[in-house]
Amino acid sequence: MTNYVISEAARCLNCKKPFCQEGCPIRTPIPQVIHLLNENKLNEAGQMLFDNNPLSIVCSLICNHANQCEGHCIQGRKNSAIHISDIEHYISDTYFDKMKIECAPWNGKMIAIIGSGPAGIAVAIIMTKKGYKVTIFESKDKIGGVMQYGIPEFRLPRSIMDRYKKKLIEIGVSIRPNTTIGGALEIHNLLEDGYSAVFIGTGVWRPKTLGVKGESLGNVHFGIDYLASPKAFNLGNNLAIIGTGNTAMDVARTALRQGVEHVTIYSHNNTLSAAKAEVDYARLDGCDFEYDLDTVEITPEGPLFRKIMRNEEGEAIGFEPEKVQVKCDSVIICVSQGPKNKLILTTPGLKGNDKGLLITENTGMTTVEGLFAAGDVVSGAKTIVQAVAQAKVVAEQMDQYIKQKSEADS
Ligand SMILES: Cc1cc2nc3c(=O)[nH]c(=O)nc-3n(C[C@H](O)[C@H](O)[C@H](O)COP(=O)(O)OP(=O)(O)OC[C@H]3O[C@@H](n4cnc5c(N)ncnc54)[C@H](O)[C@@H]3O)c2cc1C
Repeated sequence: MTNYVISEAARCLNCKKPFCQEGCPIRTPIPQVIHLLNENKLNEAGQMLFDNNPLSIVCSLICNHANQCEGHCIQGRKNSAIHISDIEHYISDTYFDKMKIECAPWNGKMIAIIGSGPAGIAVAIIMTKKGYKVTIFESKDKIGGVMQYGIPEFRLPRSIMDRYKKKLIEIGVSIRPNTTIGGALEIHNLLEDGYSAVFIGTGVWRPKTLGVKGESLGNVHFGIDYLASPKAFNLGNNLAIIGTGNTAMDVARTALRQGVEHVTIYSHNNTLSAAKAEVDYARLDGCDFEYDLDTVEITPEGPLFRKIMRNEEGEAIGFEPEKVQVKCDSVIICVSQGPKNKLILTTPGLKGNDKGLLITENTGMTTVEGLFAAGDVVSGAKTIVQAVAQAKVVAEQMDQYIKQKSEADS
């Protein structure tokens, strides 16, 4: 691995116009980082990565690199693209535990963060570095959001979240696990207790339904519920998955690892929406795929479909008259997620759009002064790097807001 990283780094052309960086949603300064590595300055390279992206270790493992940095690498035009993700992972993983995060002395202000996903963790680190005292409120017992309760261990080792927790505690962040805001405590309690601003990074945790009969039957589950604790589910030997995104691929690969013998993903058209690499791995792990099946109902036997008919151009032109009853032990529905509405219901003035996603200004301020938001709860289900990129901008705006408010109040 080390030789491989070194030889890959040596292939970097240090382009004047680094397309790799332009292809990265958080604009990682890739050529500079690789240059430092080539000069044996691993700590400096690690610091540069972490300063730009507090979730660098995670992103090095689970970003869609083929579409982002590596997909834009100039070397990929003639040869193979540089394996930037492996280089980033080696640096950030080696550096993380020894990194000392320099934080300004306490400025007397407190920040509340609701949700410990990538957006919440990024804001916690950035605001603590600026001198704020940060408290994270998290519904679940462990931090990480989807990184802890969604993405399977074989793609993202949970030990990484333990290392983040240790680091957060080391820099003085308080974590309140098993604490749902909108339950015993509401946002107004936080403001009354003296938090200068509140950051909402609660993600999207309400599974979308198909809207067909049978979704409440005992043989039917939702993808994100399953991934939160796969061992809690008894799926039998034959599993049908409805939906074709990355969650569906994670469910399929997890179920196969948990001993389910036959896993089939059913698509309601002739394509799959997950990233190519995720589909390739699901196929490699033994998952089958069926196309052009529209779900009519889910019965105790399994999903009942109608087959989509297509003309010679491949356009859908209707349904075959005969329905198709698939027989299986369990069905898992993976057709995306939307936000829960607890905070909107319990916070006067906090508004969502027609999908329930929080409405924010460019600054990340919601419809209530002093409440900011970023990540999936604003953008809908997206990616970790996008959540962190947004959170970085919003943290700066929160800092500005608090400073301006203090000046105005004094
Ligand atoms: C199965 C799956 C696989 C994915 N794979 C990838 C991938 O490979 N690469 C990638 O880049 N992205 C992936 N994503 C998307 C990515 O994980 C999300 O875009 C990202 O996690 C969003 O971050 P966030 O901080 O906005 O929210 P989340 O990660 O959802 O975290 C929100 C946190 O808020 C907590 N919370 C919610 N409500 C409250 C409340 N009222 N009080 C207190 N706490 C609360 C939740 O418990 C959670 O911990 C995947 C998503 C799923 C579901």
